[in-house]
Amino acid sequence: MLRRAALLVGLLFVSACAVGERPTLEGAGSVADGADASGDDTEGLSGTPDGEAGGDGSGSETAAGPATTEEAAPPLPDRQSLGNAPPVLISPTGVLVPVLARNPTGYEVLTPCGNAVDLTYGQPVWEATVVLDPGHGGDERGAIGPDGATEAEVNLDVARRTGALLEAQGVAVVLTRSADYRIPVRNRAAIADQLQAKAFVSIHHNAPAAQPTEEPGSEVYVQSGSADSRRLGGLIYEAVTQALAEFDVAWTGRPDAGVLTVLNSEGKNAYGITRYPTTPVALAELAYIANPSEAVLIGTDEYRQAAAEALAAAILRYLNTDEPGDGFVDNPRLFNPSGDTGGTTGCVDPPLT
Ligand SMILES: [Zn+2]
Repeated sequence: MLRRAALLVGLLFVSACAVGERPTLEGAGSVADGADASGDDTEGLSGTPDGEAGGDGSGSETAAGPATTEEAAPPLPDRQSLGNAPPVLISPTGVLVPVLARNPTGYEVLTPCGNAVDLTYGQPVWEATVVLDPGHGGDERGAIGPDGATEAEVNLDVARRTGALLEAQGVAVVLTRSADYRIPVRNRAAIADQLQAKAFVSIHHNAPAAQPTEEPGSEVYVQSGSADSRRLGGLIYEAVTQALAEFDVAWTGRPDAGVLTVLNSEGKNAYGITRYPTTPVALAELAYIANPSEAVLIGTDEYRQAAAEALAAAILRYLNTDEPGDGFVDNPRLFNPSGDTGGTTGCVDPPLT
């Protein structure tokens, strides 16, 4: 996709060695990836399971805020009205931004925090088969492990590895965030939808620690009523649990772990990441970063690569077969969000240039 994008007209490009060249997977390495372990409250300390507060599926540390934050939809144009403008640009600093319109000096784009700003140039992204979403980022660091590792950093590393594996198989991939900055969930979903992706996978690590289990306690959240989302989630769950079971770890999990729909009391998908996108989505809580035993594992290269290989294999099976996956839990989990994590309040945009 990136090679193809380079053929397209109408934009000034940064040079091949500039930061914007391949930022979706590798370009963000110089940016601090949320490794700040100074830690305010964490999911583990607050007792709030990852992905539950805020109704955004992106985890939470704060229980404050409105009970059901419903973010306004970003003011995105339909693809046809963009004419020959790309639906998404990668800014010179490697930030993915949906295009709102052309303007005399370049483009009006939507920042990660949802602001409309002008951008003179960027690398066009015309389409993506797969959009990977590293959960959290910026001041929303997600769960924090006993060793101080932040979920935001781990999620980004696993997403980059997964993306590299898929690209090696010829699959066009982008990441919703390329570095350690915040994106409200609604805008993550907008990127997948604007790119008309076939699969959207949000990568997370769970908290607080659950009860001891024999097998990995991985959970995958899917969209109620979407057969494609369910199949994507089933294939991810099957691959991830098989891969992680190879590690000798004191696992933890909840009794209803598996492929879940999580609904609020109105019967809607409780998490924004399953509620907002029309793209088939699955949110994978790969392992429990709040469990000391699992946290040690999560810190290893072997784990991160194994998780990425499992995710990539599952996504390829989703794209190339009709296989159903496994691990489906019949009864929805009921959850009513109580936080504001994943929204736009207090969001600070990263520099685009
Ligand atoms: Zn999370």
